[in-house]
Amino acid sequence: MTADSRPPTANDGILGGAAPKRRRRAQNTEPQGEPTSTMIRRVWLHRLSRVSLIAGIVLLVAAIVVGIIGVQRPAQVIAMAPAPIQTILPTLIPLPTSTPTPTPTPLPPLIGLLAGHSGGADTGALCPDGLREVDITKDVANRAKQFLEARGYRVDILAEFDKRLDATKRDYAPQVFLAIHVDSCVFYASGYKVARADNSAIPQADDRLVQCVSMAYGAATKMSVHEGSITRDMTLYHALNEIDSKSPGAIIELGFMGSDRAILGKRETLALGIADGVDGFLKGSLCQ
Ligand SMILES: [Zn+2]
Repeated sequence: MTADSRPPTANDGILGGAAPKRRRRAQNTEPQGEPTSTMIRRVWLHRLSRVSLIAGIVLLVAAIVVGIIGVQRPAQVIAMAPAPIQTILPTLIPLPTSTPTPTPTPLPPLIGLLAGHSGGADTGALCPDGLREVDITKDVANRAKQFLEARGYRVDILAEFDKRLDATKRDYAPQVFLAIHVDSCVFYASGYKVARADNSAIPQADDRLVQCVSMAYGAATKMSVHEGSITRDMTLYHALNEIDSKSPGAIIELGFMGSDRAILGKRETLALGIADGVDGFLKGSLCQ
């Protein structure tokens, strides 16, 4: 049995533990011309330190450059930036100072037609056969209203003592006012008549209205004017002194309920004559 093949002893354990010492000594005794792991480590550490130094310098330079650009850029950005909107808006887009007011559409002229003796116990003139004045005035007024409204006018029908008529206020102000009556039931007189108020504040306008209504009514009915019978009942008629003093107004007696009975039965013709007269006046006709 050789020494290597002899069984291990307790001293072998000690000898075995000393073996690394012999190996380290053996390493230390390696020839000096060959690089050791320590030398290699030192070389790499040296290289790493140089690389770190260079990287540090580069980072430092980069930081300085970024710092300089960062300081200069805000000024450039401010110089190149557009002016604030708040300062531009007042000069380029002036705010509206006021809203335009819509132009009101003018209303059509207002016409007031008073149906004589309507709205109360009084029926006006009365014939023996029962024909009543108020029945004629109401019928003619309503038919004339339809004619005039068809021509675009506004029309009021008023009662004899209408609440809109006030002698003190005089605040009812149509563009034309016409009271419609019929003469008494007699056979000794014939014809129609139209008059204005004695104390008219606008005699020229009232005279033209009288002329326009008289001409148109005569043309429609073929009746004649009953000359010389304009009574104070007409010229002092109450309603002419209850409308606005600047409203042209007149009163018409359509005919005599006795002798003019036939024509007074043609209500559409009477109404058309009245509508034509008022229409002509409002259109500015001289009616001469
Ligand atoms: Zn009457």
